[in-house]
Amino acid sequence: MLKIGCHLSASDGYLAMGKSAVSIDANVFQFFTRNPRGGAAKAIDEKDIAAFLELAGANGITDLLAHAPYTLNPCAAKENLRTFARETMADDIRRMEYLPGNMYNFHPGSHVGQGVEAGIDLIAALLNDVLSPDQTTIVLLETMSGKGSEVGGRFEELRAIIDKVMLQEKLGVCLDTCHVYDAGYDIAGDLDGVLAEFDRVIGLERLRAIHINDSKNPFGSHKDRHEKIGDGSLGVEVLKTIINHPRLRHLPFYLETPNELEGYAREIRLLRSLYEEE
Ligand code: FE
Ligand code: FE
Ligand code: ZN
Repeated sequence: MLKIGCHLSASDGYLAMGKSAVSIDANVFQFFTRNPRGGAAKAIDEKDIAAFLELAGANGITDLLAHAPYTLNPCAAKENLRTFARETMADDIRRMEYLPGNMYNFHPGSHVGQGVEAGIDLIAALLNDVLSPDQTTIVLLETMSGKGSEVGGRFEELRAIIDKVMLQEKLGVCLDTCHVYDAGYDIAGDLDGVLAEFDRVIGLERLRAIHINDSKNPFGSHKDRHEKIGDGSLGVEVLKTIINHPRLRHLPFYLETPNELEGYAREIRLLRSLYEEE
């Protein structure tokens, strides 16, 4: 069965997200750990979590993916911003341990003129500070479009970060279809070639999740503007090939398309109808 879901609002808690997921036939979902522009996270509500876990068990919801706030920049030039990134990620991981065995995704960051090398060093240093041997949460580096001074637009950059981290078994990668296409990886024309490249540089065993988005912009645009499924430069056929690809089809897919719940329900229905059951 296809593992497909979308980004859900966390403002009403986990049980509410679980109910939303069930209502749109999602069996996985993503959410922000706190306001995407930063700020404090809500207090952990153990009752809400217990109720959610029961609902999730009864409805086959798995593979929760928490997304770090956009303002979290592990390779910021300013020390206070890096401190915010470190403290936020440490707190987020601690909170995810209430939902053991799930995943936490973050944008590697923007080096803001310090250079890619310095950025990679700072990102790895932050991960070495916050990862702990006993955590069950897998931390995912997201593939980026390479806009501005973003780190992670090239597979080599993600590999270089991973190489500098001690607890590599706690790390994975989340591939965003809009981002990689905008970054210049031709998943429309040569998906097998891109996956072979990913495997050679990073290793496909590190690939743990996929953000399934269409792109508003053409190949290699370095723009990062998500589009609804079928309305962008990737198109339905390409996305169909991705969800059915033998090396990808078992992974959880998360929609981050510009939609309300109803639009997500439609896209989930569409992608389920395009999935070839074995
Ligand atoms: Fe993201
Ligand atoms: Fe994404
Ligand atoms: Zn994006």
